Amino acid sequence: MAASYLFHGGRVLDPRRDTLAEGIEVLTEGDRIKEVADRPISAAAAARIDLKGRTLMPGLIDAHIHLLLAEVNLHLLDGVPLTLLAAKGAASAKAMLMRGFTTVRDTGGADFGIKLALETGLFEGPRLFISGAPISQTGGHGDFRLRTQTAFECACCSGVAFAARVADGVPEVLKAVRDELRKGADQIKLMVSGGVASQADPLESLQFRIDEIEAAVEEATRWGRYVCAHAYAAEAVGRAVAAGVRTIEHGNLIDAPTAQLMAERGAYLVPTLVTYDAMRRRGPDYGMSAYSLEKNQIVLEAGLRSLELARAAGVKIGFGTDLLGPLQDDHCREFLIRAEIMRPIDIVRSATIVNAEIVRQPGRLGEIAPGAFADLLVVDGDPLGDLGLFQDQGAHLPAIMKGGVFVKNAL
Ligand SMILES: [Zn+2]
Repeated sequence: MAASYLFHGGRVLDPRRDTLAEGIEVLTEGDRIKEVADRPISAAAAARIDLKGRTLMPGLIDAHIHLLLAEVNLHLLDGVPLTLLAAKGAASAKAMLMRGFTTVRDTGGADFGIKLALETGLFEGPRLFISGAPISQTGGHGDFRLRTQTAFECACCSGVAFAARVADGVPEVLKAVRDELRKGADQIKLMVSGGVASQADPLESLQFRIDEIEAAVEEATRWGRYVCAHAYAAEAVGRAVAAGVRTIEHGNLIDAPTAQLMAERGAYLVPTLVTYDAMRRRGPDYGMSAYSLEKNQIVLEAGLRSLELARAAGVKIGFGTDLLGPLQDDHCREFLIRAEIMRPIDIVRSATIVNAEIVRQPGRLGEIAPGAFADLLVVDGDPLGDLGLFQDQGAHLPAIMKGGVFVKNAL
């Protein structure tokens, strides 16, 4: 018989309510939540877990991470062998899980191999939704050739192969999208504006023509998938959303009319504020160039304002972080940064029910409800009163369950 657990004696953080609920019992069976009740549940076969006043909440979801981009200066991936990259990815996945993230969406880099390793338990980590290699135009945010290079060197044996691929014009974009779908992408990632890590493109540059973006969206949609797009400038965001892009990654430089358009189209914004903060503080230690740091400062200063504009327009706001390699230990500072302008419950909603919609698993992930996966955290206190409980690499999470199995249990 499948393992069954009955959580009792604590409070429940249901992201659909504004406050913690007392007196709720939660029964899991196998990999799912079987019953949630405001009275004692009788389940003789279940192991009883006494929360002793602690908080039970759904596992967190991060909608913008990179498991395999192990360097802050992405050019340095060129020297990283794939075996080392996979080993680093395994360590990174485990650390994310131990911080309470039971699901993550990789927005560039992770492939079906690492997804399979996680699904089969060879690597311990969160559920993973992959983009494969992000698609960039020549000279765009994902073109990591040096200016002295014309040809693409064979990158099949180094980490740079995972960072991006280049396609120009509708036929090449179609082929790249189809190829990533063939390789199992859960969503397609396009680079539609300049970025911080790339060395050749101005931040405000508008990348890909409209017809290229539309072609990618149409192709992904016919396959039952969707497009997420890296974009900073308001115009870059606007043209992507108008072309049917479903989630905008970063979006730091949006303006009010663009936020309005996103709300009308039902597009999601996935801010990744902590990465700019971490790159400013620690990027120079890891080989970030002066040009990257200069671009970083611009998006850093605009970050909270973009969140404010999106919220005012009613845009659905997801939770992302985008930290590269060694910066990932700053993961949960994202909660603290957002708390400057958002209520803790709204931040938690972003990281649970909204992100569950983003990965297209509403009702299955990000909530405590019958039929949902038993992805659960036990928190040493009330996270709505103290977001510090998410800090310190999971130290304040005495138990973490993924798919009905305890991956940590110090209760
Ligand atoms: Zn990213």
